[in-house]
Amino acid sequence: MLNCPVCGSAEWICRYRIKDWDIQECANCRFSRIDPMPVRETRAECYSEEKITERNIKQKNALQKFSRVMKRFFGKITKRGKSGIFYDKLRRNLAPGAKILDIGCGDGSFIKTAKRYFTCTGVEISAHLAALAGKDPDIKVITGNFMSVVFNKDKYDGITMISLLEHLDDPFMALKSCYELLNNGGMLLLKTVNYGSLNRSITAAAWTGFRPPDHMIYFEPSSLRLILQKAGFKKIDIHATPFSDNMYCEAFR
Ligand SMILES: [Zn+2]
Repeated sequence: MLNCPVCGSAEWICRYRIKDWDIQECANCRFSRIDPMPVRETRAECYSEEKITERNIKQKNALQKFSRVMKRFFGKITKRGKSGIFYDKLRRNLAPGAKILDIGCGDGSFIKTAKRYFTCTGVEISAHLAALAGKDPDIKVITGNFMSVVFNKDKYDGITMISLLEHLDDPFMALKSCYELLNNGGMLLLKTVNYGSLNRSITAAAWTGFRPPDHMIYFEPSSLRLILQKAGFKKIDIHATPFSDNMYCEAFR
């Protein structure tokens, strides 16, 4: 198996077995990944309209339901307007009209708020969701896998990745690309699942954060900070609470 993209270690510990995948954890920094990793060229298929619908309908087993109940319960403690947090942070740091790139924009739900104040572009791998986002004439949508999109010389003042990082096979290249796409002083905002959450420790293999092959990689705050530093980011601020399955991060070029 490959070396850890965060710390370079070649030592992995198999923590869980979920359906056809192992969850391998780096023995040094605890960055985790599924094994085997899906082939990048087939990723778009996972986000076809049929697959999205199928996933929404499918009910998980009883343990996973328990995990969801816990999430809902603890979620009440930490719940705030999630899109609102991103929008407020962008507004505090960037001027009106600043260029925002929302990677993994889905049906454009975040951009629909952000476009009131910023000039927004979205990238979306699912043609179905990209078409929904593109119905709004104010939103420019690029359909494709962010890791394969050619941006020419476009630069952005802000990049948002809301629940996207865990879907990528090469987090270092992805974050390095974000860094290069930002103007100096530009801001990256991201939300990803937190492997260090208490819910993961308690529910183990039934944790709802584990969704192979959709969720391929898992960070906890320390490994996320390390890889962001390695990609060049500064002023990294990570917000994680033990009871939330997710963490929120801001970082600057
Ligand atoms: Zn590592």
